[in-house]
This record gives sequence, C-alpha cells and structure tokens, in this order.
Amino acid sequence: MQFPMDERFLEERERYRLRHTCEYCSFFDAKTGTCRHGWPNEEHREAWYEGAGDRIVFCKEFELR
Ligand code: SF4
Repeated sequence: MQFPMDERFLEERERYRLRHTCEYCSFFDAKTGTCRHGWPNEEHREAWYEGAGDRIVFCKEFELR
C-alpha cells in the first residue's frame, strides 16, 4: 500500500512511535538488511523515513516481532 509522504504522518510516526518498518518485523534479517521472504525492502526500512523517501509504503507481510 502506498501513499504520498506527508509531514503529518512523519510527525505522528514520531509522536506515537509507530513501528511499521522492517527493523520491527519478524522476517527482517538484521545482519544482511534483507527480508527473509525475499521482498525488496528499501522502501520499508527506517532509513526510508529518515531520508528522501517520497511516499509511505506499507508491507502487507509485516509481522511485529
Ligand atoms: S515482510 Fe515486509 S516488513 Fe517484513 S522484513 Fe520483509 S519487506 Fe520488511
């Protein structure tokens, strides 16, 4: 699911400490930075939201660990 990036989301993400990125997912391999299910994950990483990401991209397989 993709949405345009907006300041409100980024502000609420910080305020409510939303955990929606690979770093909080059961299927994330922290040693390699990859998804154990083989999904391309650049848009699902924390760095995406701290950098130049131009859209909000939620992963349908996210599983909170
Ligand atoms: S399932 Fe989705 S959120 Fe989880 S590690 Fe893979 S790409 Fe990231």
